[in-house]
Order: sequence, then C-alpha cells, then structure tokens
Amino acid sequence: GILQVGLGERSYPIFVESGCLATVPAELAARWPASCYCLVADDTVAALHGQELLEALRAADLTAEMLSFPAGEASKTIETVAWLASAAARLGLDRHSMIIALGGGVTGDLAGFLASAYLRGVDFVQVPTSLLAQVDSSVGGKTGVDLPEGKNLFGAFYQPKGVFIDLHVLQTLPEIQYRNGLAEVIKYGVIREPTFLDYLEQHRDAILALEPTVVSEMVLTCCRIKADVVAADEREGDLRRILNFGHTIGHAVEAASRFEVLHGMAVAIGMVAASRIAVSRGMLSAERAERITGMIAAYGLPTEIPETLDRRQIKSYLLTDKKRIGGTLFFILPRSDGSVVITDEVTEADIDAVLAVGP
Ligand code: NAD
Ligand code: ZN
Repeated sequence: GILQVGLGERSYPIFVESGCLATVPAELAARWPASCYCLVADDTVAALHGQELLEALRAADLTAEMLSFPAGEASKTIETVAWLASAAARLGLDRHSMIIALGGGVTGDLAGFLASAYLRGVDFVQVPTSLLAQVDSSVGGKTGVDLPEGKNLFGAFYQPKGVFIDLHVLQTLPEIQYRNGLAEVIKYGVIREPTFLDYLEQHRDAILALEPTVVSEMVLTCCRIKADVVAADEREGDLRRILNFGHTIGHAVEAASRFEVLHGMAVAIGMVAASRIAVSRGMLSAERAERITGMIAAYGLPTEIPETLDRRQIKSYLLTDKKRIGGTLFFILPRSDGSVVITDEVTEADIDAVLAVGP
C-alpha cells in the first residue's frame, strides 16, 4: 500500500510492500533523478541487504556508492556523522546527490542528519529495515545523534523525500529486535486507536509468526497513525507528544541500564508504569490497565523494571530529563475511554510510588 505524509510542499509517500526493495532503483530514477545515490548502512545491514541494493542500483545504470559504519547505538555520534560527511566529500557527492538511509533507527537518524547538513542539505530517502524503524523512526523527519550527555540531544527536523518499507527484510531481523519494535506498535493502539489494540490482541500469533498479510496490515496502520500525527504537528507542539507514551520512564530505564535494556523494552516498562500512574490518579480503570499490561506481557515484552537496576538512579535520570525540557516533566497517561492526556501534574510522590522508592 501507499500512504502519504501530508506536509504541503514537503509531502512524501510511504511505500509498504513485501519485496519493494527491488523496486527502489526504478522508483528513484523515475521520481528523484540524482547525480549519485549514496547508501548509508551499518555493517550488518550493509552485508545483508546493502550490497544487493548497491548492485541493483548500478545494474539500473545509476551511479551509486555505499558508506557503512559499525552497527549499534554507540555509532550514533557526531564523530560518525563527521566521518560520513568527509567520506561523502571524498566520493565527490554534490548538491544533486541523494542519500539512502538503509537500516534501523540508528542509521535513519544518522543518515538523515547527514543529509540535512551535507552541503546545507541534500535529498534523502528512508529504507527502514528494523521493525522499530519501519513503524516509527523512518516517518516524521526527526534526525540526529547522541551526545555523551544524553540521547538525541543534537539534530534537526529534516523530512525524507520518500520511505520504502520492505517487509521481507524483517526475515533477517533478530527476534529480539522484532519484539523491540512491537512495543512501539502496541503504543499506537493505546494512544490513538482502540480498534487497533483489539486487532493486536486478536492477531498476536500471526504477528509473532511474521505472517505476511497481518504484518503488512500492522505496519500500514502504524505508519498511517504516525503520518497523521506528524502531518498535524510536525515540530512537536502538543499532539506529537502523545507518541512519547511510555517514553518518560522508558528513557530513564534505558539510561540507567546504560542502554543494555533496548529502547522498545524500556518503553514497554514505561507504558506499564504510566498506566499504573493513571490508575492511581483515577483516570484509568484497573481493568483497562490490566488489559494493556497483559498484552505487553503476552507479546514477550517486560512489564517490570529489572531487579538489577537501581531505582534511585532511574529517578535521578527522570529529574535530569526534567531539567533539560525546561523544568516540567510531562507524562502521557491513558484514559479509560481509549484517549490519552498529556499532563505535567504527575507528582514526585506518584513517581516514587511507581518506582517503589522511598521518599
Ligand atoms: P538499530 O538501528 O541499531 O537496529 C537494531 C539492530 O538491528 C542493529 O544491530 C542492526 O544492524 C540490526 N538490523 C536492522 N535491520 C536488520 C535486518 N533487516 N536484518 C538484520 N539485522 C538488522 O536500532 P533500532 O532499534 O532500529 O532503532 C533505535 C534508534 O532509533 C535509536 O537510536 C532511537 O533513538 C532511534 N529512534 C528515532 C526515532 C525518530 O523519530 N527519529 C524514533 C524512535 C527511535
Ligand atoms: Zn520510541
């Protein structure tokens, strides 16, 4: 299927199709002619899918190159962007070149940021290969890198020209990375679409078994929701913030674990925590909270903070985040009617209770 992110002159298509990687060379040549197509991929994805795409581009008589970097969050730094930019310059990439971000969210964030700044901006497309990148990070135009002081602190809003989502590449994705992406999938059901939550409940086995038609419908729904939210609120006024459901505590758990706990796993824990806060504040019925938690567990995702993590440290990361965003900590809390509220009224006592730390 094809979706559209409606952003006026910067609107762009999202193609969701098994096998669409093979159509990328022809689509690029027809829609966005470029002097050179430069693939950016981590070394894992470069070997699994990048080499093939590079050869397909060249076989279609297009000038193409590939730059790769070591896989993992540790590569999402200014140093990697600087290295990529120098490599691009050495390859002679000019203003009419196009960057192709092929990979997970790390690659999309890095390559998108590179595209935003190289020669003050060149075109780029997203070809997300992890489930997390397919349902979340490849759509919306947030790009950037981490700093030693924290995640995603340095970047830009820069929209791609298009997004190519090939579901077939999920076949090579490690199972834990697939489940990691499913946390964000569940998030969309809770924040925006109760019928989608029902769908996820009913099709769990098929989703976990990577059944093509169900996975395709699932990814399309997530991209439609994300595209709608981004089109209505590109630069994170209020609406886009709902996408941060589960992320307030999630980020703190991720940081306290030194990123041993994967992002989606941390978000799963954060969604359960936010639901508990919502129950204690009388916004969410215990029954609906139990349904959300039960579903997260049924998808093989964690619901509790690992025993090995220091809860006081999690709290101190929350307070650091709070300072960074101007002194107010926002929580996205689910309500019984299936909507969510963005609130700055969660108290330290609420947080202590959910983290089970004494005052
Ligand atoms: P990732 O890019 O590191 O990918 C996870 C792992 O899966 C990597 O080892 C990668 O090599 C591997 N991989 C990816 N696709 C594969 C495939 N098809 N087959 C085999 N292996 C494959 O991490 P991620 O989980 O995709 O993304 C997390 C990043 O995304 C974080 O840095 C996060 O901040 C960012 N993010 C950005 C946004 C945004 O809006 N820009 C939103 C959410 C997350
Ligand atoms: Zn997330």
